[in-house]
Amino acid sequence: MQFTRGSAVVSRSLATRSRFPAAARKHLFNRSLSTTSILREEHNAGQDVPLPKPKRFNFKTFAKVLGGATLLSIAGSLGMFIYVTQKDRHPGTQLPYDPEKKTIVILGSGWGATSLLKTLDTSEYNVVIISPKNYFLFTPLLPSVAVGTLSAKAILQPTRYLARHKARAVTVIEAEAKEIDPFNKTVTFEDDTEIKGEVSHTTIPYDYLVHAVGAEVQTFGIPGVQEKACFMKELNDAEIMQRRFKDCIESAAFPGQDDAEIDRLLHIVIVGGGPTGIEVSGEIHDFLEDDLKAWYPELAGRIRISLVEALPSVLPMFSKQLIEYTESTFKESKIDILTKTMVKEVKDRSVVLQMPDKSIQDVPCGMVVWAGGNKGRKITQDLMAKYPSAQTNRRGLVVDDHLRLAGANGSIFAIGCISCPSLEQATVTVTDPEEKAKFDSDIGTTKKLISNVKVRPFNYSHQGSLAYIGSDKAIADLPFANGNIASAGVATFLFWRSAYLSTLFSLRNRTLVANDWIITKIFGRDLSRD
Ligand code: FAD
Ligand code: NAD
Repeated sequence: MQFTRGSAVVSRSLATRSRFPAAARKHLFNRSLSTTSILREEHNAGQDVPLPKPKRFNFKTFAKVLGGATLLSIAGSLGMFIYVTQKDRHPGTQLPYDPEKKTIVILGSGWGATSLLKTLDTSEYNVVIISPKNYFLFTPLLPSVAVGTLSAKAILQPTRYLARHKARAVTVIEAEAKEIDPFNKTVTFEDDTEIKGEVSHTTIPYDYLVHAVGAEVQTFGIPGVQEKACFMKELNDAEIMQRRFKDCIESAAFPGQDDAEIDRLLHIVIVGGGPTGIEVSGEIHDFLEDDLKAWYPELAGRIRISLVEALPSVLPMFSKQLIEYTESTFKESKIDILTKTMVKEVKDRSVVLQMPDKSIQDVPCGMVVWAGGNKGRKITQDLMAKYPSAQTNRRGLVVDDHLRLAGANGSIFAIGCISCPSLEQATVTVTDPEEKAKFDSDIGTTKKLISNVKVRPFNYSHQGSLAYIGSDKAIADLPFANGNIASAGVATFLFWRSAYLSTLFSLRNRTLVANDWIITKIFGRDLSRD
């Protein structure tokens, strides 16, 4: 049954009548009369009282106000954008080098080094940064560069930019550190670039050294990996992969190519089911779906992507349901996952696989992308060798709760991609009594320093794991209360994008990345090969 608004109020008033005393009923009844025009008409029946005209919605006024407010907010945002960018481009004058202050030398310009530089109070120190790359590379978006979704410039930030914004001038040196002498507190470095000046090798002193050189690709000495596979670690790797992938497609399109050769050229093998391998597979799949199908219709359907993983499952750091979600998304995307399968050799035209049943197969392919993990750099191993009694963990540098290198008496810090067991844990592994005594004395000195200086201990806070898996889908394991929230799909992909956009270090990078995403959505990826 349908009621008008008026009848509904009347029936409600009648219903109340039976439950309330007369005075209250009168009050309620009058209230309901005054609230409805229909009842007012009944109440004033017979009298000629003009009803007030209902207010008409004035669209013109509304549009005027809305237009004005929009213009004002656009002008305000533009003004703010111009102010922030100009302030960014023209930072104020900096304090000069101060011989009275201690000098911190930072090795590296990656995640660890850049995060430190960003927060370091340079008015208290002289700072020198030494790195073979004069920029910070935003690695999470590197696979997007490999398929041309983003341009390389969008994810690079010159280290000098950050240095220029510090209170005191920071010296940035593009060079590779070759040797650390912790006893004389010096570091020796070399210009390893193509063009060198007359001086390309020198040594400088430090008061504190921050070792943040990251890791390098681990190939396990597998034949052919170093020479024939593409990597996904540095900017150059992404550019090489993009060039090689496009080369495979153009070679497959070469007139007269036979079917078997086309299938070989269009078979892309990705090694490693960690997040890097997963993200690269997802990005290649997107390139195929969004662009190659339109521009190479006769070839696109023949492109095969195989992901090879030695372990029984991909993404061991994610929860089980997210692993299953990734596997089923890859199945839909026609990406083959070969688990319990180990790459034994990379050849010019194929990859040798040890299958789960231990049989060996020579699988033809056009390109191999190696995402098989990382290991410590030579300079890190050399540094460890200088402290044989304290640096006993093969997986990485041993540091204390304050990231001070075990054995270095508080003058060397190590941050970034390294394993950090506590000093107490490390002592357990020192068995030789003489070495243990020396090591214990190191711990004593370091602990004394910590209590004297009153520095807060480093506290690792896990922000969660996020990975892009292609087809506009991402997976996320996020810490929540005492547990974890697992989320996957398109909404998580939007979260992934906004999380990384906000994590980019500068407004310039955020603008470039957002712009590239829009351009790629509208015009597609660039297919030209340089
Ligand atoms: P790096 O960031 O690698 O920095 C090392 C720096 O040292 C570099 O600037 C290098 O040029 C410099 N250097 C090297 N040798 C020398 C030398 N001899 N002397 C001086 N300087 C030297 N992690 C996440 O948490 N989330 C992600 O989404 C994520 N995505 C990733 C995607 C890809 C494709 C890759 C490759 C990694 C990703 N990572 C991600 C891992 C993350 O990049 C590393 O954990 C992080 O870079 C480690 O920081 P770091 O400072 O130790 O090393
Ligand atoms: P990884 O070490 O996480 O994974 C490498 C994988 O390759 C391993 O699963 C290993 O079993 C496999 N592998 C090694 N040799 C093999 C062989 N011969 N045959 C078959 N499989 C082989 O390496 P990664 O994915 O490059 O990640 C490196 C680091 O960077 C990790 O700490 C990771 O968490 C981080 N990372 C994080 C993200 C993210 O959070 N989205 C993305 C990329 C990298």
